[in-house]
Amino acid sequence: MQLTLWTYEGPPHVGAMRIANSMRDLHFVLHAPQGDTYADLLFTMIERNEKRPPVTYTTFQARDLGSDTASIFKSSCQEAYERFKPSALLVAASCTAELIQDDPMGLAKALDLEIPVVGVELLAYQRKENWGASETFYQLIRTLASPFRPAPGEKRPERQPGTRARCNVLGPTSLGFRNRDDVTEVVKLLERLGVEINLIAPLGASPEDLTHIGEADFNVVLYPEIAATAARWLERNFHQPMTKTVPIGVGATRDFIKEVCELAGIDAPSDELDSRLPWYSRSIDSTYLTGKRVFIFADATHALAAARIAHEEMGFEVVGLGTYSREQAREVREAAEALGLEALITDDYLEVEAAVAELQPELLLGTQMERHIAKRQGVPCAVISSPVHVQDFPARYSPQAGFEGANVIFDTWVHPLMMGLEEHLLRMFQEDFEFTDGAAPSHLASEHGRAVASAKREETQSEETQPKEAPSEPSEGALSWDKEAERELGRIPFFVRGKARRNTERFAADQGVNLITVETLYDAKAHFSR
Ligand code: SF4
Repeated sequence: MQLTLWTYEGPPHVGAMRIANSMRDLHFVLHAPQGDTYADLLFTMIERNEKRPPVTYTTFQARDLGSDTASIFKSSCQEAYERFKPSALLVAASCTAELIQDDPMGLAKALDLEIPVVGVELLAYQRKENWGASETFYQLIRTLASPFRPAPGEKRPERQPGTRARCNVLGPTSLGFRNRDDVTEVVKLLERLGVEINLIAPLGASPEDLTHIGEADFNVVLYPEIAATAARWLERNFHQPMTKTVPIGVGATRDFIKEVCELAGIDAPSDELDSRLPWYSRSIDSTYLTGKRVFIFADATHALAAARIAHEEMGFEVVGLGTYSREQAREVREAAEALGLEALITDDYLEVEAAVAELQPELLLGTQMERHIAKRQGVPCAVISSPVHVQDFPARYSPQAGFEGANVIFDTWVHPLMMGLEEHLLRMFQEDFEFTDGAAPSHLASEHGRAVASAKREETQSEETQPKEAPSEPSEGALSWDKEAERELGRIPFFVRGKARRNTERFAADQGVNLITVETLYDAKAHFSR
């Protein structure tokens, strides 16, 4: 284990808490020292849940270590059972408790409670939060669904003609990035395709619901970090196939629809189920997007989705791609290789920061950690994955999945680039009279003030169209503008035109160019935008 200031993932018991907090009627007894109750804050403060998570901590103290910590665990289980009346109990040990080797599962079983008890071994010193969530979800399904497993060799019964295909949606959890809204979007999509939802889990499911998981025809794996292990077990034991594509981005959503239609044995829809992202990408001023150098670092699901969107749908150049999800590193390595890159697989934010500093991207897509890195390095940034801070659990509907998710992603990514441009313009024109401290706020100007301002503007405008006023030291002598470049300059709003002329001429002089063409104008723009 490594002591660090920031970390992408918490210890595995935080992952187990995320599963417990996602579900109904389940209670988690965590053998843990007093300090571990801090984890409640992730749910109440960051995710803004109304109640604290359904977790009882044994909260043993240093002085208890010499005595009987096992009996503390047993009485905590008994009390939680009587007080919360859950329909299943989850038990595990946190890092420190793992060292005292009390065997939570054995101790809870010995209580002979009348509800299922599910124990998870959390391997605190080798694994992290997402693995803890995945393992807990898998153990819950395994324990609760096993009694309903078909006998070895028994086939899945054929679906009756005329009945709709049914699926489970697996993976959304508490503290997941926009998981709640993704579920709404994906369920809407599946229902439009004519697929019935058997179960959504863990988010909103009860232990009783998990006993029916085998009744679906196939599984939609929404977040492989959380659900792939459980889905693979269901594939082996219930013969339920699973989806491989995560529907984030337009292309991925289209592929997902095809996959679902195949698994459900239905025809792909002929009507356009589409997003505005492709049109927006094409229609927006291409200098905002085309060829922008983007660096992506996130959990594997969102890193892979972002790389595909950036490369195929937005026209960006992906200059760096990485993940902290070691379990899914292979997929991220393959995606990076396809883009001619070497994936950055690390859970050390300092390594990510060094890579960003070296590659100098124009946009950083990442987690809360990358947001800080971007701020320090002055790079525009958008958050695309957990871990996130409180502002990334928005009140508004803000999915990432499906076609509406693609719209949200487009807006989220383009916004910081536009903000960057605005800041750049402000820096460029900070010496202009309209931007000086003494300039009256234009929206508060009196009639007189407005008249003066407008007269001044007209003056400036006419000054700019006067060749004698096209000042700029570098333009003196050989510099001239060709007709088309003049026309293009005329299209630039009057209040920035003078500055654009001066900058272009300075750039042309530096480059030894005598005749300014449209290309020179745009090269100058690109130069000053850097
Ligand atoms: S048990 Fe683990 S998470 Fe809890 S305080 Fe100790 S080191 Fe931190």
